[in-house]
Amino acid sequence: MKLFSTALLICTALMAFAQKPQNVILLIGDGMGLSQVSTTFYYKDSDPHFKRFRHIGLVKTSSASNKVTDSAAGATAYASGIKTYNRAIGVDMDTMPVPTIMEELKEKGYCTGLIALCSITHATPGCFYAHVKDRDEHEEIARQLSLAGVDFFAGAGTRYFTKRADEQNSYAVMQKNGYVMDTIQSNKPLEAHKKYGFLLADVEMPSKNNGRDDFLPRTTKAVIDYLDQRSNGKGFFLMSEGSYIDWAGHSKDVEMLIAEQLDFDETIGAALDFAEKDGNTLVIVTADHETGGLSLEKGANKDTIQLTFKTDQHTTPLVPVFVFGPGAENFTGIYENNELQLKLKALLGL
Ligand SMILES: [Zn+2]
Repeated sequence: MKLFSTALLICTALMAFAQKPQNVILLIGDGMGLSQVSTTFYYKDSDPHFKRFRHIGLVKTSSASNKVTDSAAGATAYASGIKTYNRAIGVDMDTMPVPTIMEELKEKGYCTGLIALCSITHATPGCFYAHVKDRDEHEEIARQLSLAGVDFFAGAGTRYFTKRADEQNSYAVMQKNGYVMDTIQSNKPLEAHKKYGFLLADVEMPSKNNGRDDFLPRTTKAVIDYLDQRSNGKGFFLMSEGSYIDWAGHSKDVEMLIAEQLDFDETIGAALDFAEKDGNTLVIVTADHETGGLSLEKGANKDTIQLTFKTDQHTTPLVPVFVFGPGAENFTGIYENNELQLKLKALLGL
């Protein structure tokens, strides 16, 4: 016991001396296990950006209710630092709201941004600003986003803002509150003094193989520059999600998986390029869980590999976490998913 508390003291002291990053970029590959990451090493002509990391850890993803988590409990762990039940969005086991790291940083004057390929009200992005009992409450999640004060968001889900059962229009509310809203395109220059909301599809954006362009890496890069200018040294927090990695597993589609994983790797490259130049930005890349039980086996002949999804469900192996920037050394080792958020909070002095 004494040894343990001494170790804890040293650990806390080390954390206090670690350089505190000014900005945080969290990239979540939904459903991205180690096999999914490995595909970039076999299907990219050059070294994947994953190879640029020196600090790597493993995260245990079980939720409070299930050995195999869903994206809602998984993202609540990363956003709010607690284990909760599957389907929960930013609430604890008693369905009570738990503050998210984005909300806490916003209160400290940070600028904030969210990017997803699915509906921006979907579980992973939703957990960073909303608090509801069930992930399917999309219209309520949209209403909460319209009041959350996020500086930038881009994703899909127009219908949850404009075609609502309660006939409210969260899109119009945001326009009234000074947001530049757009449903057509996100690739125009972003001005640092404006707030933006991009809803680029009714429910979800197309997969890469169904015609999506370089939206994810391009927008992630543009928004990092925008948040950097807008925050003007006060710090920013960005969460960007590779949403389709999960859906490739659910539909057991290996072509989709490879395309989405390579797209996510480019997104990581955009974040690392900024962080390397900036020197004051922490980049965290991880997953909420693995999807599909992807295996990379010997193919038809000795030099080929065969990708096979064993299930269309989420699975529960530990998932990797890759970290770059000031304080990255605090994220090595094996720990629970909610501990990642607690480590981040300790590093940021929250
Ligand atoms: Zn899923």
